[in-house]
Amino acid sequence: MRNASMEEQWLSSHLSGGNQTYLDEMYEAYLQDPNSVPEQWRTIFDKLPSVSEEVTTDTPHKPVRDHYLLMGKSPKLATDTLAPSLVTEHERKQVRVHQLATAYRLRGHQRSDLDPLGLKKQSSVPDLDPKYHGLSMADMETIYQCANLYIGRQEAPLKDIIGAMEQTYCGSVGAEFTHIVNTSERRWIELRMESVRSNPEFSVDARKHILERLCAGEGIEKYLGSKYPGTKRFGLEGGEALIPLMDELIQRSGSYGAKEVVIGMAHRGRLNMLVNILGKNPADLFDEFEGKSFLTEGSGDVKYHQGFSSNVMTSGGEIHLALAFNPSHLEIAAPVVEGSVRARQDRRKDSDGSLVIPVNIHGDAAFAGQGVVMETLQMSQTRGYGTGGTIHIIINNQVGFTTSKQDDARSTEHPTDVAKMVQAPIFHVNGDDPEAVVFATQLAVDYRQQFKRDVVIDLVCYRRRGHNEADEPAMTQPLMYKSIRKHKTTFELYSEKLKQSGVVSQDEIKQLVDKYRESLASGEHVANALVKEPNSSLFVDWKPYLNQPVNDDFDTSFDLKRLQELAHIINTPQESFPLQRQVNKIMEDRGKMAKGALPINWGFAETLAYATIIDQGLPVRITGQDVGRGTFVHRHAVWHNQNDGSSFVPLANISEDQASFEIYDSFLSEEAVLAFEYGYATTMPNALVIWEAQFGDFANGAQVVIDQFITSGEGKWGRLCGLTMLLPHGYEGQGPEHSSARLERYLQLCAEYNIQVCMPTTPAQVYHMLRRQIVRNLRKPLVVMSPKSLLRHKDAVSTLEELADGRFQTVLDDPSADENKVTRVVVCSGKVYYDLKDKIQKEGVDNVAVIRVEQLYPFPEDRLFEVMSRYKKIDDVIWCQEEPMNQGAWYSSQHHVRYVVNRINPNLYLRYAGREASASPAAGYMSLHLEQLEKFLNDAILNIQ
Ligand code: AMP
Repeated sequence: MRNASMEEQWLSSHLSGGNQTYLDEMYEAYLQDPNSVPEQWRTIFDKLPSVSEEVTTDTPHKPVRDHYLLMGKSPKLATDTLAPSLVTEHERKQVRVHQLATAYRLRGHQRSDLDPLGLKKQSSVPDLDPKYHGLSMADMETIYQCANLYIGRQEAPLKDIIGAMEQTYCGSVGAEFTHIVNTSERRWIELRMESVRSNPEFSVDARKHILERLCAGEGIEKYLGSKYPGTKRFGLEGGEALIPLMDELIQRSGSYGAKEVVIGMAHRGRLNMLVNILGKNPADLFDEFEGKSFLTEGSGDVKYHQGFSSNVMTSGGEIHLALAFNPSHLEIAAPVVEGSVRARQDRRKDSDGSLVIPVNIHGDAAFAGQGVVMETLQMSQTRGYGTGGTIHIIINNQVGFTTSKQDDARSTEHPTDVAKMVQAPIFHVNGDDPEAVVFATQLAVDYRQQFKRDVVIDLVCYRRRGHNEADEPAMTQPLMYKSIRKHKTTFELYSEKLKQSGVVSQDEIKQLVDKYRESLASGEHVANALVKEPNSSLFVDWKPYLNQPVNDDFDTSFDLKRLQELAHIINTPQESFPLQRQVNKIMEDRGKMAKGALPINWGFAETLAYATIIDQGLPVRITGQDVGRGTFVHRHAVWHNQNDGSSFVPLANISEDQASFEIYDSFLSEEAVLAFEYGYATTMPNALVIWEAQFGDFANGAQVVIDQFITSGEGKWGRLCGLTMLLPHGYEGQGPEHSSARLERYLQLCAEYNIQVCMPTTPAQVYHMLRRQIVRNLRKPLVVMSPKSLLRHKDAVSTLEELADGRFQTVLDDPSADENKVTRVVVCSGKVYYDLKDKIQKEGVDNVAVIRVEQLYPFPEDRLFEVMSRYKKIDDVIWCQEEPMNQGAWYSSQHHVRYVVNRINPNLYLRYAGREASASPAAGYMSLHLEQLEKFLNDAILNIQ
């Protein structure tokens, strides 16, 4: 224990003179981590009262107290609880001044002037009252040090300090950043805001430019409103400041050397963005309003879901803009944008994300409510999904469709609070103060540039009309809309402000409005920076992939000698890199397989497929939960050194000329991760992009991505996608949650050659299927029911020659059936083939042939006919599946099989053998599973009609 007098002396010496900054820093460090400060300081700070008037006596222990401090409910750092004799009155007050300034940084946003309508009730913020800190009117003229404040003075009267902090943190910008643990990030924000009091001086030209952009933002909506009254357009009215915001964001990013900006947004304000920022020709938009179609193929989509691409000029050069297509499902575009950005960054070898910038625009209700937001934030700094920070913009119109009551909309104060989980700084800004909006944008762009982390701009605005133009908002928000009806537009308000300060005249304002309207009327482009003849090297050329024939039969052979060389390279561990015993054995076995001494199994064939693809110069990217090892321990694409824990990816180290091989275990998400990979695959046509589900039915959590993007994106938007989904599937008695990948759902979504659905049953088949997916130029999503027990099945093996010479077979004939004896053909797909063959062998049956359909969509009718035609004596045809009757392929594919059977013999009738219809995918008990299996195998092989 220290003795009191020593402590007093020590404290006194540190509190005197110019040590205020030091004290401040100590105290902040203590708040973050009490153990980070010297014991003497800890002892003193520990003695400070832990209970403020807002904290009950039940919560005095430290973690809770720290929590309250970080939440901005700072208990008093009351130095008067220290020995009163130790410090002078002035020194005590100096500490309180510091507390007050800290409170502004913590809680200023709660009192800032954010709501253009002035309707939002502000919470009471006791710590922003000087009295709370023991400071009174009598102290206002007293000079205090402001060394840790960035207000341009070393010391100032208290009233000036308060004035500076008030201006900085309680004006049109409310900043939340004290939740960031990195001190340099916090300091950076403090410096940037305090040094200009959040109100930088804009030049006359800059102000005129902001006015012009606002005029455009308002002009397009007015024009569309009068030309197409009552037509849905999800106008931006009330949030027009988004246009100067985006303009600044793009121009500033360009000035830092960015080459691409990829934008995701929902429908609100989209048409405005398309015309005013991306430079879509207004004439084209008008045609869409008049119902004209632009797609030469496919079913198309409504205008406010359309994406767009263009190039604009910035002071740093030409920059490519891409606005992602989006479905109506809010927020799901965000991870798609991230994937697209990552693909572009990979293509440009932009490892820190300086060249390609993701921008996601959200609605306030959706940002607070949709789970995929959290998933997308969570991926932001991960190895496999990071994009160097995203700029998030919330169009916060304070109402979600008809819900504006905060008690209904969320449990947090701001709709942006979820972003705090990744310590993103949040800049709330009043949408009626366009200069403040531009300032917040500069902060956000510069923060991302500096720290490569996510940042949020919360553009607080309102929605002048209803959810859409045909909607009457006063039904549910009567007071809000009474106020909105009286409220001047942002353009009007800013025009008045600039007029008053002599920046523009009324005539100039009128000219601006007239000129914009005339440009629209003549169908001219209205995005000033648009590059009319874009530099096409800024984006990928998709021509080689367009209009490709759907050709199932494709040569995927590969030179045998090179195949063996590759097998040797990827399967030979180094002595200096000891592998775990079982993994080592697997590699030894793979070595024997390469020499032909052992038959080839699934894991080896799959790995060799990747090796050949990257050896041919085509990149491979695989992600999903536990993909490095493989959920069922078959892949081992990442080796783990048993001595030092380091890892090594053999496929990434084949040769100097190889294409990249990337494999990442994903975080535990399906929705955001699958959407990300969709975005990646639709941006990188020359890469094999694979997402693997841990168990196939886990893809249920990503159903939105499957329905709204993967199966329909080409039909709606003409966007090609070669994404592969590996979905482990198979009935092995593991219960309802681990058996089915819900094959029926994918088959039900199949039409117009939108996707491919395969169930390969041999290692050679998976090898050729993967190669075919990338080696041919057809880009269609591939959904694979991939195996579990087959990974190790003694009969599910292939030879090296089958890999080198073969190709993917859409239908596999029975290798052991004698066509002279066969009277019954059982058609099936997937693993059940091995159960059927086993049964045939056990029962000594010789009149049954089992034909496998390895590709269920596009259904290979001709090939099935060809194979079945070999059997001339058929009098019975059965479709056999292990899934219940209402699941699997039966309901969606039987018409194809019936058609073939009818071609063989119109008198033949297709029968069903399989589990009965069931509400649950599979039995929960092994005994029941086996009983069901036995029954349908008997039906398929033995029982007679
Ligand atoms: P982006 O870089 O996304 O703006 O794309 C540039 C251009 O490439 C687009 O305007 C399209 O013509 C084409 N393109 C991009 N992605 C795809 C895709 N997935 N399928 C077909 N064409 C595409």
